[in-house]
Amino acid sequence: MTRKAEIGERLGEVEERIAQACRAAGRDPAEVTLIAITKTYPADDVRILAELGVRDVGENRDQEAAGKAAECADLPLTWHFVGQLQTNKVRSVVGYADVIHSVDRERLARAISKEAVRAGREVTCLVQVALDDDPERGGALAADVPALADVIAAAENVRLGGVMAVAPLGEDPGKAFGRLREIALALQSRHPGAVMVSAGMSGDLSEAVANGATHVRVGTALLGRRKPFVR
Ligand SMILES: *Cc1c(COP(=O)(O)O)cnc(C)c1O
Repeated sequence: MTRKAEIGERLGEVEERIAQACRAAGRDPAEVTLIAITKTYPADDVRILAELGVRDVGENRDQEAAGKAAECADLPLTWHFVGQLQTNKVRSVVGYADVIHSVDRERLARAISKEAVRAGREVTCLVQVALDDDPERGGALAADVPALADVIAAAENVRLGGVMAVAPLGEDPGKAFGRLREIALALQSRHPGAVMVSAGMSGDLSEAVANGATHVRVGTALLGRRKPFVR
């Protein structure tokens, strides 16, 4: 089987899982965008995904993403940055990312705004929420979300898109995504345009869709198991 046939088959399965979760939740599948997380996989796979109709791709490390985005600059893709982001990488990331999912502190939000102004680009920012209240793994504490959202909403050349989270280990993801939904609704009452809810990965996309996810981030189920990361 060619790589394209293999990815095509996996893509069909993931789309069916999303459609099924939408049916179960009484939602329209058009409300849910699939973001293909292509980390550790080559630009050729990104190209195949684009040929198969995928329009959203995501990466979590700038070192890897910058080159891949440049190689794929001819493709009609929206690039999502989903990994923890250090301020010294912001200039590079703003060069290719349309959406940054991992904004978890005001200093980072201000740095993104500054670089977006400098580059003449418009970047959508999501507030990453730590659903286990353990900011070690990235994410703002739930209590800090409103103030951070206000900073993003007021900053130049950035748009507040909504919220993002990763389900904590060792907890029912449905319960955790239920808390994210409450946080997202509270945010929308202050910022009606911030409707994006980025939640759900290969293992828990159904629970995320059941709890209002608008964007699911899927790597393994589309491209296969990643080799262990060696620096
Ligand atoms: C790698 C990654 C994903 C995709 O995870 P899979 O389990 O491979 O689907 C989603 N979100 C983030 C933030 C990631 O780093």
